Amino acid sequence: MPALLETHQLCQHYGRVRALDDITLSLPPGGITGLVGKNGAGKTTLLALIAGALKPDGGLIRVLGQSPACTMLSGRIGSLLQEAHFKPGVAVSKQLVQFARLQGNSKQAAEQAVSRLLVQIGGANEAHKRPEAMSYGQRKRLGIAQAFLGSPALIILDEPTAGLDPVIADEIRQFIRHNAEAGSIIISSHNLYEIEDLCHRVLVLEAGRLITNTTIAELRQMNAVLHFTTAPALSEAIINEITSLGGVIGVRRDGQNPAKIACDYHESDNDQLPLSIQQCIIKHGVGILSMHQGNPITAEVLGL
Ligand code: ATP
Repeated sequence: MPALLETHQLCQHYGRVRALDDITLSLPPGGITGLVGKNGAGKTTLLALIAGALKPDGGLIRVLGQSPACTMLSGRIGSLLQEAHFKPGVAVSKQLVQFARLQGNSKQAAEQAVSRLLVQIGGANEAHKRPEAMSYGQRKRLGIAQAFLGSPALIILDEPTAGLDPVIADEIRQFIRHNAEAGSIIISSHNLYEIEDLCHRVLVLEAGRLITNTTIAELRQMNAVLHFTTAPALSEAIINEITSLGGVIGVRRDGQNPAKIACDYHESDNDQLPLSIQQCIIKHGVGILSMHQGNPITAEVLGL
């Protein structure tokens, strides 16, 4: 089976701006891959190259063993790159059916596929509207639906939940998760909780260069974090004692509330460590008001 995505010394320039610089990577098929990086890091450019919307000006890119512009990939890649593009003046549901028909479906099969998808993604009540009569979020949701039409082998979504209200964003995440088994998905996002929640792999771009290509499981193994709120706030002496426990990477105090601390530790070193940390606090007569496991995928961990 060919790799989902293979690039070798991939470069892309816009005039004198080097948007992507010497990207070499290989992704196996399956699962959801997250693409993260600061504004201008090159995420949209990389997604556009994978979708075949841009032609690289240096290096090599193969998607499912083919050049992205190759006709053999037509219908095998679904994408939503930034904005959803629907023709003005025509109901979006109609455009989705037309799109499904272009994929070789009969009218009835196309209508059935679209209404199934609309029910799943939660846009059935708006789809009869013309795109210009929709809000940004409504259009975006239907743009995501379009990317999934025909069950493509690879779906590319550029910031699928950016600009959506929290309820719709959550519905979109559930939809993506629910549909992840049918193919492979690559999403870009600035929301690290979303990346941790949805993705099994993460790619990190920094100023056009790939600085990380790893699995979330590997990141979790290396980094775990416990958040505590204590009463009273921990003294420096107790913090030093926790820091000296084997496996603890460091203890951070919340800048606004000194009673809140975050303790980073290596999860693989010692599964009893959370208990040892609690014991260390309690034996000094300090109460633990709350404790929860935090998101280990921080900007710091990803090198952002
Ligand atoms: P963001 O998180 O802000 O969406 P991004 O990681 O998606 O950013 P890109 O949109 O790929 O980044 O942009 C990468 C670099 O290429 C930036 O420096 C940007 O200014 C530049 N760039 C992107 N598109 C063009 C264009 N059409 N013309 C000129 N420069 C461009």
